[in-house]
Amino acid sequence: MMNERTELASLGEFGLIDRLAKPFEPALPETLRGIGDDCAVLDYGGESLTLISTDMLVEGVHFDLAYCPLKHLGYKAVAVNVSDIAAMNGTPLHITVSIALSNRFSVEAVEELYAGMQVACKDYKVDLVGGDTTTSRSGLVLSISVLGRVGKDKIAYRSGANVHDVLCVTGDLGGAYLGLQMLEREKQVFLSNPTVQPELSGKDYIIQRQLKPIARTDVVFDLQEAGVVPTSMIDISDGLASEVMHLCKNSKVGMVIFEEKIPVDETALATAQEFNLDITTCTLNGGEDYELLFTVRPQDFEKLRNSPHITPIGYCLPAEQGIFLHTLNGNHISLQAQGWNHF
Ligand code: ADP
Ligand code: MG
Repeated sequence: MMNERTELASLGEFGLIDRLAKPFEPALPETLRGIGDDCAVLDYGGESLTLISTDMLVEGVHFDLAYCPLKHLGYKAVAVNVSDIAAMNGTPLHITVSIALSNRFSVEAVEELYAGMQVACKDYKVDLVGGDTTTSRSGLVLSISVLGRVGKDKIAYRSGANVHDVLCVTGDLGGAYLGLQMLEREKQVFLSNPTVQPELSGKDYIIQRQLKPIARTDVVFDLQEAGVVPTSMIDISDGLASEVMHLCKNSKVGMVIFEEKIPVDETALATAQEFNLDITTCTLNGGEDYELLFTVRPQDFEKLRNSPHITPIGYCLPAEQGIFLHTLNGNHISLQAQGWNHF
């Protein structure tokens, strides 16, 4: 077996995780959910369940220090972890932070990174309670783990959607991807002529969407206030298409999404036009919006109708009807998840 060589790219990220996960079927009665959802779900007794998730950010892969301020990076690293707790309809409580640093960083630079984490800890009301520090020879690596809690009757897995449930999304989509396109373009301009100032005026919203995303803990609160528990939920880290496929696969349903319903910010739309990109493609396959995507029973949707942060974009179908986009001109396009293939 050691002689075999399978290229990582041939499996892709999810294929690899599936293959690695096989021998790790949970054996403990406390493990309600292991690999495969936004968080692992653990039952240590009592009213609530414990949630845990971990996410890593790698320099040159997930961020570029040429345009990503360290303070924003610290904030983002916490927010993306908190987002996975929100995706289970839970409340974040504690984080640990592990960093690998090269001597390229000064103490002040590392403090700047931690200042961003501190702001996020305050925003999301979590305590930083530990971590690990080590050396890196190839750029900054930042790994955060988050622990949270959710009531047993409130938890939302990826797997509970039923036919006729309404598919909803929070906020707007595509902005983070278009913010990244702007930053990349200005970096290239700067590299070819360092005297040119970056031209980012009017783009604050999408730049912020990329550099300092917000985890939708506010919507978890809104759902609770409305007395609604989503039948399934996931956060949008890899683009709408990929996350829709995850909900469908885990819930064994099909879905139709209406292109005209997908919420888009006007700066994002204008920027897509500037770059000659199709805005719907940006929402489907761009990443890092960290909005929540969830399904609710039709009667529960009525209770959310007036929420300014929630948009219905489709509904669940029997699995055999497939997963497709109803386009502006009335065509049905089968959805393919592109997401981000890390390899
Ligand atoms: P998310 O996008 O919500 O952060 P991922 O797509 O990163 O989730 O991961 C999907 C699932 O696979 C999660 O349950 C995660 O804990 C698990 N997972 C990812 N990488 C590994 C790994 N190297 N070993 C074990 N489990 C992993
Ligand atoms: Mg997630």
